[in-house]
Amino acid sequence: MNGSRYDILFEPVQIGPVTAKNRFYQVPHCNGMGHRAPSGMAAMRRVKAEGGWAVVCTEVCEIHPSADISPHNEARLWDDRDIPALARAADAIHEFDSLAGVELGHHGFRAQNRISREIPLGPSSHTVVSYDPVQSRAMDKEDIRNLRRWHAAAARRAKQAGFDLIYVYAAHGLTTPMQFLSRRYNQRTDEYGGSLENRARLLRELIEETKDAVGDTCAVPVRICVDELVGPAGLCSDGEGRDLIEMLADLPDLWDVTVGDWSNDSRPSRFGEEAVHEDYVSFVKQVTSKPVVSVGRFTSPDTMVSQVRRGVLDMVGAARPSIADPYLPNKIKEGRLDDIRECIGCNICAAADNTYTPIRCTQNPTMGEEWRRNWHPELIPARESQDRVLVVGAGPAGLECAVSLGKRGYEVALAEATTELGGRVLREPLLPGLSAWGRVRDYRLGQLHQLANVEIYMDSHMSADEILGAEFDRVVLATGSSWRRDGVARYHRTPLAGLDEKAIYTPDDIMAGRIPTGPTVVFDDDHYYMGGVIAEKLRDLGLDVTLVTPAPVVSGWTANTLEQPRIQKRLLDKGVTIVANQGLVGFSDQAAKLACAFTGRETTIEANSVVMVTSRTSHDSVYNALAAMGDQVRDAGIKSFSRIGDSLAPGTIAAAVFSGHRYAREFEKPESDEVPFLREVSELGPWSARN
Ligand code: ADP
Ligand code: SF4
Repeated sequence: MNGSRYDILFEPVQIGPVTAKNRFYQVPHCNGMGHRAPSGMAAMRRVKAEGGWAVVCTEVCEIHPSADISPHNEARLWDDRDIPALARAADAIHEFDSLAGVELGHHGFRAQNRISREIPLGPSSHTVVSYDPVQSRAMDKEDIRNLRRWHAAAARRAKQAGFDLIYVYAAHGLTTPMQFLSRRYNQRTDEYGGSLENRARLLRELIEETKDAVGDTCAVPVRICVDELVGPAGLCSDGEGRDLIEMLADLPDLWDVTVGDWSNDSRPSRFGEEAVHEDYVSFVKQVTSKPVVSVGRFTSPDTMVSQVRRGVLDMVGAARPSIADPYLPNKIKEGRLDDIRECIGCNICAAADNTYTPIRCTQNPTMGEEWRRNWHPELIPARESQDRVLVVGAGPAGLECAVSLGKRGYEVALAEATTELGGRVLREPLLPGLSAWGRVRDYRLGQLHQLANVEIYMDSHMSADEILGAEFDRVVLATGSSWRRDGVARYHRTPLAGLDEKAIYTPDDIMAGRIPTGPTVVFDDDHYYMGGVIAEKLRDLGLDVTLVTPAPVVSGWTANTLEQPRIQKRLLDKGVTIVANQGLVGFSDQAAKLACAFTGRETTIEANSVVMVTSRTSHDSVYNALAAMGDQVRDAGIKSFSRIGDSLAPGTIAAAVFSGHRYAREFEKPESDEVPFLREVSELGPWSARN
């Protein structure tokens, strides 16, 4: 789109000896595939290049067995045998004239070395950050020389693999050069400790030696933390963070600027808006002539332009926006802004890495499936038949299913019982901090409006009989689920007896505006976001709220989405009382009876009401009624009826979207016992090597 206000985003940028074709820069991001699923990783990066990102980087790449952060699946260049896997990614990125970057990393005392069993190395002796009973040893001069040699060797391997940008990584507290930089971690008294200049010595050496090794043809960017968010005790952007950039200003070929640890860099939308780091980052361009990139969950092209025009950034960094929409640059270029699948900031992508599984995304159901299922975020095979499909229910599962079937060219009817589309992604975004989650609905409604072959029927509650009479070839039930009232989840596997039912609420009640009064207990045995969000909402309404959970912390699973500490802090700051390690065992006569999760010892607390945030029941009555009709269904011309999303099994919004998408792609496929995706099986080592 020439002559557009977004043209500035498509200007080339020189990075050392290489040129990026535009300003879109996919910064390194983990993906749970790494060295264990290299083709999956390569295909995922390839689709970003195809979508217009000028620079596409790998995740962190361990340079040596002493940088082993297993079971996290990151990239590896331990030796030459690791080159072909990474070459596959570099080659795939080059297919679209994009530059391939690799983030070499040595993890210092953040590496537990669980597989390699090497002793972790660090500037000083520290316990590792996890609870593993492991400590690093302080590196001596020989260790430092070794590390520099390993890094240069890995850089040469990366060049051999075909990478154009070869990083030195000193950010997120995760790597050895960063640990040397921070006075929190570096208590050395030699020339690598003490003054900032001394603490920066290792970083300087690594930059210089990486340039010596590969700098003739490859750019050497540095990923740096300019503010550890601990005040003067660490690097800060009005203190040592700034001094450091001034000191090394033009040494690297590009500054990739970060703030705080990963949970801050990838701030969930519940705790940070777009461009949240600007105040910390904006000084960097004033003190260097080299290009500057940073992230900020940028999905708005206007924000991107503003960052460039105001001299905050030269390149628009993105991890999550490139995951949610690998085609973000091309869509901006083509003026297709309404087609952008905007990241919602839920961090389900990060949770995949943290649970050691291939990346997934709430907004983009094809993410991580590019190679193993051959799914593409923008392309979907044309229909195979004239089948007419009825989708019942317009939550995330039904919406995604209808959109994807519609894009395939099927004639689709989407019937929704209520007068609004969205199901849970209509209701939940109204809860505190979750407004960005409404983008799941917004994107799909925008797509539906472009599809003339999808008819929408509102206010259409479908019974099994009505479905039978509706004359469709295929029926998909996406009827969702409701929160249970009886306490059943993990702590209670059978209903809790003797509850004062009039005063029991569920998240569905709260979202429907049925609000408890007086002191209220939120019993959270779900452990994802809902318990914390409901407690926050009720507290905001002025209630005296006690969150009771059998877990040691609130919203425990959100440790995987990088949210847990912020959730607990927010609840405490707002005055929610947190009672951990306790189960709710009874509620009557304005008293909630609790039991210690370890001893079973009982106590009571005063409560007018209890909100059960436990588990959900699928809405499967229509499905079951159809199933009970036997041949009548076939006689009515229905070839198949299926459940998707929460009506099949309650889960995340990401799982509902995936389920709807999968149905749309696979419903014609014959049933099969084959593994439904490609996988890479480890190559056997030489058997002769055994004793
Ligand atoms: P999911 O997460 O699986 O998409 P949701 O609970 O978000 O599920 O959405 C389910 C949607 O289905 C809701 O909008 C609900 O109103 C609708 N629905 C439920 N039962 C019926 C029905 N029998 N006919 C039409 N729509 C239904
Ligand atoms: Fe964004 Fe959520 Fe997708 Fe991650 S999973 S890219 S945070 S929408």
